[in-house]
Amino acid sequence: LRGAASGLRFWSRRQRPAVANLAVVCSRSMASKTPVGFIGLGNMGNPMAKNLMKHGYPLIIYDVFPDACKEFQDAGEQVVSCPADVAEKADRIITMLPTSINAIEAYSGANGILKKVKKGSLLIDSSTIDPAVSKELAKEVEKMGAVFMDAPVSGGVGAARSRNLTFMVGGVEDEFAAAQELLGCMGSNVVYCGAVGTGQAAKICNNMLLAISMIGTAEAMNLGIRLGLDPKLLAKILNMSSGRCWSSDTYNPVPGVMDGVPSANNYQGGFGATLMAKDLGLAQDSATNTKSPILLGSLAHQIYRMMCAKGYSKKDFSSVFQFLREEETF
Ligand code: NAD
Repeated sequence: LRGAASGLRFWSRRQRPAVANLAVVCSRSMASKTPVGFIGLGNMGNPMAKNLMKHGYPLIIYDVFPDACKEFQDAGEQVVSCPADVAEKADRIITMLPTSINAIEAYSGANGILKKVKKGSLLIDSSTIDPAVSKELAKEVEKMGAVFMDAPVSGGVGAARSRNLTFMVGGVEDEFAAAQELLGCMGSNVVYCGAVGTGQAAKICNNMLLAISMIGTAEAMNLGIRLGLDPKLLAKILNMSSGRCWSSDTYNPVPGVMDGVPSANNYQGGFGATLMAKDLGLAQDSATNTKSPILLGSLAHQIYRMMCAKGYSKKDFSSVFQFLREEETF
């Protein structure tokens, strides 16, 4: 009875099912350790899925790049051959994909989730994509009697590993508790933002600020080094002064200043410059649609686009330091 009551909470008032559908709702809510689908096992999806495993959730895995699934298969998780098959086997699915186009493909493609999604399923998209696309996907999902939430993340690969991500969640508020159950296994902050698309809105604003602060940190560090300062000492001073930010104290872009960050590993792994350029493009579109001035955001967008064109596309976004280092102005 307790399960049935809590099951009803997973539905919005408008979507609350007739008694005939109750069994579907109850099975999602009561059997909390039923398999969870996970699509997109890249830099972020890999450690996020591992944290779900650590919490005892069996996984149904899919990635277009088969090698990304290998270690999950070796660990005994079930790997399937398309998103539709994930939807057939799991009624809670998390997607962690690079772009809007990939998310549309995974949901609405020929073998997409929507082909076999079960009524009452909870579909959480943690990719950073266009809020307008999230809203469109939500409409398509709703037509199938299922629920869609956008839940992009902040925190990077290190935070994904250590379960310290921040999730920004958009969707029907009645569904938030159901989403929180899974997202709480992968992050330390799960924040409800409002209707579908508002999670993406929060994420886009955060990443625009991150890009600006990373470029600023890289410029300040490069200038200081050319003025003869030791980079470690400069970083230490910045981090005890008003210039301190996440890019200076947690993810410093200068090789040799910090361990365990992409700048210590030739800018491998982490958050690719291409993904940052993509997020800044989303900010640019959103600013145009809302007539908002984003002068520094637009400049940051151009800088990351130029970096991608000049061979930095596969490097972490903190490689903007190396990009500036190679530029000399007169
Ligand atoms: P990634 O490129 O490392 O991984 C994405 C994975 O999705 C890859 O394994 C790829 O093969 C797979 N994929 C692509 N299209 C697919 C499809 N149609 N079906 C199934 N699998 C598909 O990207 P990432 O760094 O893990 O980032 C994922 C999302 O998270 C992006 O939207 C990014 O902006 C966001 N994000 C990344 C970070 C970070 O630090 N890397 C931080 C916060 C948010």
